[in-house]
Amino acid sequence: MNLPQIDTSLFKRLRIVLVETSRPGNIGAAARAMKTMGFSDLVLVKPRFDDAIKQEEAVAFASGAQDVMDAARIVDSFGEALEGCNFAAAVSARLREFSPPIVTPRNLAQQLAADPGLQAALVFGNERFGLPNEIVEKCNVLINIPANPEYSSLNLAQAVQVLTYECRMAAIDGVSRSTDIGFQGQAAAVAQIEGMYAHLEQALIAIDFLDADNPKKLMPRLKRLFSRTQLEVEEVNILRGIAKQILAGRK
Ligand code: SAH
Repeated sequence: MNLPQIDTSLFKRLRIVLVETSRPGNIGAAARAMKTMGFSDLVLVKPRFDDAIKQEEAVAFASGAQDVMDAARIVDSFGEALEGCNFAAAVSARLREFSPPIVTPRNLAQQLAADPGLQAALVFGNERFGLPNEIVEKCNVLINIPANPEYSSLNLAQAVQVLTYECRMAAIDGVSRSTDIGFQGQAAAVAQIEGMYAHLEQALIAIDFLDADNPKKLMPRLKRLFSRTQLEVEEVNILRGIAKQILAGRK
């Protein structure tokens, strides 16, 4: 039987990056979480032990996902880990005052599945310290698993499981949806949505709705509103058209 093979499938475009992982067992468990969901590209940035993937604890937790762990690349810097990627998501238990836009795992997964041009890295932090700000600032989005506010810090490998599960669901959904009959708008890519926000912001400043010197939380709030809607390309274009018209009218 000849099943169509989609090269652009999210399963080939998603990388898991673990930064400064302390416990070898967590690396093994993360490899297992990835393999159960169909992902295999694992990169380790400066794990605490150079031989982490050979350690007994890692091997035990990897179980049948030894191949994913053995194929993991170990690198010295975040930059190296992102080679070949054009999109990075910082996965963090902590929300920060200055961070890229916050996106839920489900919305992220849908964006990634919908845009075959994205080569994405999901970046996870150290068990105790999480991700450093310098790394979070370099990422396109911040992903927070909306857990129990009273105890919201998941085990590292379990966080990998949640993210890869959502990515699997979105990837499978994308494939089945593409065979649906009838109208199906194309989901907008993160970069398109970002461009629209910038355009909208300019327009809101032009009509004095937004004070550039004292913007308060207007843009974060609008982003939050739109992030709930799963914007499609056509809709992003309409919003940009409105912004363009406003700006033209102000000239
Ligand atoms: N005490 C650390 C938590 C580290 S848990 C901190 O404050 O950041 C190890 C890693 O698991 C985190 O860096 C993150 O990548 C992931 N993680 C754990 N809980 C998460 C959550 N609720 N949302 C998103 N990522 C989470």
